[in-house]
Amino acid sequence: MVVPPLCRRLKRLMKSAWADRDAEALVASGANSGIDRDLALRIYTTRLLGQEPRLVLHGGGNTSLKQSVRDRFGGEVEVLRIKATGADMAQIDAAGLPAVRLAALRQLRALDHIDDAELVQIERGNLLDPAAPTPSVELMLHAFLPHQFIDHTHATAVLSVIDQPDSEAKCAAVFGSRLAYVPYVMPGFGLAKSAVAAFEANTPSDGLILGKHGIVTFGSSAREAYERMIEMVTLAEDFIARNGKAFAIAAMPREIAPVAAVAPLLRGACSLKDTAVEGAWQRLVLDFRGGDRILNSCAPLLPRLAQAGVVTPDHTIRTKNWPLVLPSPQPDKLDEFKKAAHEAAGAFMRHYRDYFKRHNARVGGIKRELDPLPRVAMVQGLGLFGLGRSKREAIIAADIAEEWLAVVVDAERIGRFESISEADMFDCEYWPLEQAKLGSRPDLPLAGQIAAVTGAGGAIGAATAKAFAAAGAAVALLDVNLAAAQEQAKAIGPSALAVACDVTAADSVACAFTEVAASFGGLDILISNAGAAWQGRIGEVGEDVLRRSFELNFYGHQRASQAAVKIMLAQATGGCLLFNVSKQAVNPGPDFGPYGIPKAAALALMRQYALDYGADGIRANAVNADRIRSGLLTPAMIASRSKARGVSEKNYMSGNLLGREVTADDVAQAFMHQALELKTTADVTTVDGGNIAAAMR
Ligand SMILES: [Zn+2]
Repeated sequence: MVVPPLCRRLKRLMKSAWADRDAEALVASGANSGIDRDLALRIYTTRLLGQEPRLVLHGGGNTSLKQSVRDRFGGEVEVLRIKATGADMAQIDAAGLPAVRLAALRQLRALDHIDDAELVQIERGNLLDPAAPTPSVELMLHAFLPHQFIDHTHATAVLSVIDQPDSEAKCAAVFGSRLAYVPYVMPGFGLAKSAVAAFEANTPSDGLILGKHGIVTFGSSAREAYERMIEMVTLAEDFIARNGKAFAIAAMPREIAPVAAVAPLLRGACSLKDTAVEGAWQRLVLDFRGGDRILNSCAPLLPRLAQAGVVTPDHTIRTKNWPLVLPSPQPDKLDEFKKAAHEAAGAFMRHYRDYFKRHNARVGGIKRELDPLPRVAMVQGLGLFGLGRSKREAIIAADIAEEWLAVVVDAERIGRFESISEADMFDCEYWPLEQAKLGSRPDLPLAGQIAAVTGAGGAIGAATAKAFAAAGAAVALLDVNLAAAQEQAKAIGPSALAVACDVTAADSVACAFTEVAASFGGLDILISNAGAAWQGRIGEVGEDVLRRSFELNFYGHQRASQAAVKIMLAQATGGCLLFNVSKQAVNPGPDFGPYGIPKAAALALMRQYALDYGADGIRANAVNADRIRSGLLTPAMIASRSKARGVSEKNYMSGNLLGREVTADDVAQAFMHQALELKTTADVTTVDGGNIAAAMR
């Protein structure tokens, strides 16, 4: 099948989003907080650029403004306001455009070379506000060019035109003399010097093309620089529309395995055994983008393109230089896919380590190797996955991978995609100033891991989900009450996932775990927590009551565990099952048999999982908690029970050996401890403040 060039993606030429009303509203609100008109409009067009993903993605791109401001002694000082490194342009405010004394920066042009550390020192030393964030790595380019307003993006259409072997000739054809061409130089001081030299030699009217990197436009107003950017991007889009060849869609197998079945296999293949800690794995969270006809369309070219490199240098830190490419997963041949995924991931990592070794030797062996795991996987016929140490990182990688595909496909339609050299990619990937964009990343104990909590809408479940998310895990909150799970997920943050799950219904459990695997790529830790209490004197209680309690308090654990173990075995990187068992399992209360007996069975269930799956690296542990304020022990129950015993509520809640009230957070910490103890399985941790009758023996 051949698709006409324009209908494959929804192609509309970019238009200026400038609106006088919005611009003036920002100027007016800025005036109230001491922001002058130029700065307010600089903020306005920076946001316009940042809101358009075809212009700017995840911290790529930057803007600046030169102006005179008064220093604290009333003197005039000329400053460059430039986007802070890594700041989000779509939501920028004045604080995201730190001011640097311009004279000091301009003096540096006389130097032939300056090393990065010294440059950062000079930048930070000349900040008007010493506490301001660090300016963009492209600060010097903005400083050396004379224009008042400068915009820089890595616009999709422009990259398709300039990522070509004949980049300069194509630019001349598209932009004429309106943009001067600067051949590729690594971002930083060297690029700034080349850019200003190209400007002075050619005096272009609108801006510059930075070869294999992006576009710069300038102007005497925020609107002029912004609208020149839009116009130039439109020229590139129009050139592609007029000159782009049709692209054949490759034939794909009719039957493709579902994402939830493929993702854990891929995730397992893209995990790394920790050589320092036995039983530990370095894992990644996944983000899937499907239904991708673009990916299918370039399937025949993927083996070549996958080796071709990034579309703009700063993507190396998010996606590495190459995607992992995998064959179509057929539903009845998942074993073959698993084998192919492991081989391909192994080859990817060997290739990455060789690449590091080669180029680290070239630069004198001074760099520290990053992990060799892929950050993008393209699965033919299915779609692509972003991979990251958190869901957020995975989403960013997937966004950039989609951008990569869009650029590369259009580049191939008008010529042949060509990236910067491997050495240039290495220099960017291992450039400390690029790495700084990622911010300081403390290695959280559960980074890269995926946890699912059942009963997450309740007190203990919610506290546990919160604790695991704070420890770096991607967390799915499962609850029969979806609204309750959503409320708790919202409190955790945008990457927490709320899923409806009734653990007493097999279909509901299957759906919920499918959703977890499809959303995050797999599962490493199950906290099987959902439960409810039934009472009745055991000799008289109705069988229906006992059965209902068993459905939830025993079979609920079993269903969730089975679903979790299936995913864990597909990943083949071990895992952890944690059960909320309650002290009732070992210390029954009068007339509480319908609750305690299935809990005792759940304790035996935990031991059985520990026994049957220990060899697979899957651990199983339980927490016996007692007297926690929750849906099972409501304020009304606390009031009536303490009254019945003739003690205060406080004394009732802390009626244990330590005299301390036990909270849902204490239980969450016990689960956390069990999740982190890689040499502990079949363990029961008691969280009850001390109750000798409930002590394990
Ligand atoms: Zn750039």
